[in-house]
Amino acid sequence: MSSRIFPVAAFVLALVVGLVTPGVVVAKPGTPISPKVLEAVFIHYEHPAKGKPTPTPEDKVYDYYLLLGPMWDLSQYPAGVPYVINPTGAPVGAELEVKAAFEAWDAATSAELFGDSPVIDGNSWWGREDGKNNVSWQVIPDGRVIAGTWIWYFDNDGSGTMTTGDVIKETDIVFNASQKWGIDADGEGTTYKLSRMYDVRNIGTHEVGHVVGLDDIYESKYSEITMYGYSSKGETKKISLAIGDIDGTAALYGQ
Ligand SMILES: [Zn+2]
Repeated sequence: MSSRIFPVAAFVLALVVGLVTPGVVVAKPGTPISPKVLEAVFIHYEHPAKGKPTPTPEDKVYDYYLLLGPMWDLSQYPAGVPYVINPTGAPVGAELEVKAAFEAWDAATSAELFGDSPVIDGNSWWGREDGKNNVSWQVIPDGRVIAGTWIWYFDNDGSGTMTTGDVIKETDIVFNASQKWGIDADGEGTTYKLSRMYDVRNIGTHEVGHVVGLDDIYESKYSEITMYGYSSKGETKKISLAIGDIDGTAALYGQ
């Protein structure tokens, strides 16, 4: 079982943010930003076994999930949790793909989880607690990094870590703009194949899973589940949620 927080990568990202956004200081994971609000970072990597022979086939498991602990208090968001998309540096049409990624999770619960009308804002950036749940593209020099999700949460029990009963305050998703990104421009759906680039909706759906409150799972038998923690170029299977992804959402917000 792997920890959800990658301190080294987060530190590198913090440096990156410091370079590209002068004056903004991003705390390391676990560092209090304001009383009882903590930050955690989830980094999504390309699969480390890329190019190696496929191991012996194994039975895949589809009905597994891990909760981070914190969740949204939906009573504060009667129209769903709002979010902001900054399309600067994204492929044309990415806003609709990001919206579809959020809606995939919203469909997994009868609760109104996310707002239906994201704001498009070219001045909304990631990695800082600014009251906006934003999605943006930014250059991250580490070529292994595909994307990442920041979560700020109220550490209600004062445990210093994510636990059940904590409440999400804000989240930011960043796509690494130094990667090649593409979208399913003409909507072929299941026959769609994007080679040599990452699919925005595929990666976006995984990242939004963290915003929902789900953790990465890394064992290869879970590789068909959206919250499997690795991806590769051309992959589209994370677009459709697996049973475990849906069960995890329902465990937090009801069926
Ligand atoms: Zn992840």
